[in-house]
Amino acid sequence: MNKANDPSLKSWIEVKKDSDFPIQNIPFGIFKTANLSPRVSTRIGDQVIDLNALFILGYLDNLPFKQGDFDTDTLNRMMKKGKTAVSDLRNRLSKLFQSDQNDLSGNAHHVEQVLFDAHKVEMCMPVEVGDYTDFYSSRQHATNVGTMFRDPDNALLPNWLHIPVGYHGRSSSIIPTGQTIKRPKGQQKPNEDEGPVFGPCKLLDFELEMAFVTFDGKPLGESISTKEAKDYIFGMCIMNDWSARDIQKWEYVPLGPFLAKSFASSVSPWIVTMEALEPFSIEGPEQDPEVLPYLNYEGKHHYDIDLEVGIIPENGEETTVCNSNYRYMYWNMVQQLAHHSVNGCNIRCGDMMASGTISGPERESFGSMLELSWKGTNPVKLKDGSERKFLQDKDTVVMRGHCEKNGVRIGFGEVETKILPADS
Ligand code: MN
Repeated sequence: MNKANDPSLKSWIEVKKDSDFPIQNIPFGIFKTANLSPRVSTRIGDQVIDLNALFILGYLDNLPFKQGDFDTDTLNRMMKKGKTAVSDLRNRLSKLFQSDQNDLSGNAHHVEQVLFDAHKVEMCMPVEVGDYTDFYSSRQHATNVGTMFRDPDNALLPNWLHIPVGYHGRSSSIIPTGQTIKRPKGQQKPNEDEGPVFGPCKLLDFELEMAFVTFDGKPLGESISTKEAKDYIFGMCIMNDWSARDIQKWEYVPLGPFLAKSFASSVSPWIVTMEALEPFSIEGPEQDPEVLPYLNYEGKHHYDIDLEVGIIPENGEETTVCNSNYRYMYWNMVQQLAHHSVNGCNIRCGDMMASGTISGPERESFGSMLELSWKGTNPVKLKDGSERKFLQDKDTVVMRGHCEKNGVRIGFGEVETKILPADS
């Protein structure tokens, strides 16, 4: 077991029982304040920890990092140092903040420069994403969509059980929690017998997903095997992969999603390392038919991560509309990465790969409004008495996720996004 994952560890920073950020987490993110430029940080309890300040004060000596790796507005430079370096950094941070250590805790002047109230800082986009890929790896989601739009008897397309299906998305519009989105405009074709129309999307939807971020991969022309894949994955965050269903329906044949997806994808601010998630790994589903040899894998690469989605109407209270779990993935991350690179496509530091909408077997666990309202035929009721088939202007969508085992709760924080009306 990694030392930083020891369930018995306690921090000298207070951690409430339901916190996503005990000392066993040590995620990485970027924060700024009115007075401080964006910089690398971690979080314990409700305290955001400035790694740039820690470096300057000498607490990160004898690790393979320079100040520029922390005094920067993305995690990329730190990630460039690779898995072992980041693991050593996480262990150093764990040690510094353990309750029996007083190197830092005994120096009030230093503590003051390093700790910031999480409610008083602004969290930024954690990673400069080079390429963004979106998979389609939840069997229930693919089955639901196939049932609604094609044929309930042949809901899965013939390739689905053989290939981790995916498409290349747009990285420029990936945004952090807190940043609003505008309802997108585009072409739609609401009536079979009439031509297309242009205007604000009417069927705006969220997609509950998780995404992983990569370290540097291999050069162009080389592949990453399922056996190697774990060494190339830095960590995970929650993603709301916004979708305009009416635009999507009209544009997606024959080349797949385009403007219906590229207007925004929102992510949670902390990247939780694969190392911190290790205790929560579980067996995946049996894959039948048997996959081709390059997609075979050994070990546990699925994860038990509880996920939830809430909708907050303007001036209203939140209604939980979905409870799902990352365990519902059919294809896991090592299969996705092996498939992505099997043709020699090079993976770079900071690439982001999302899971696809994560839906479980029950209606309550469906990860999009499209499925929850079953194409708008079965509206979702909110606590204020209103109903939603899809999302309305000024709705706020919140997604959260955490794992829990042996008294340790590791979470991701939340990704919260308000929808503004389309430009007139
Ligand atoms: Mn998606």
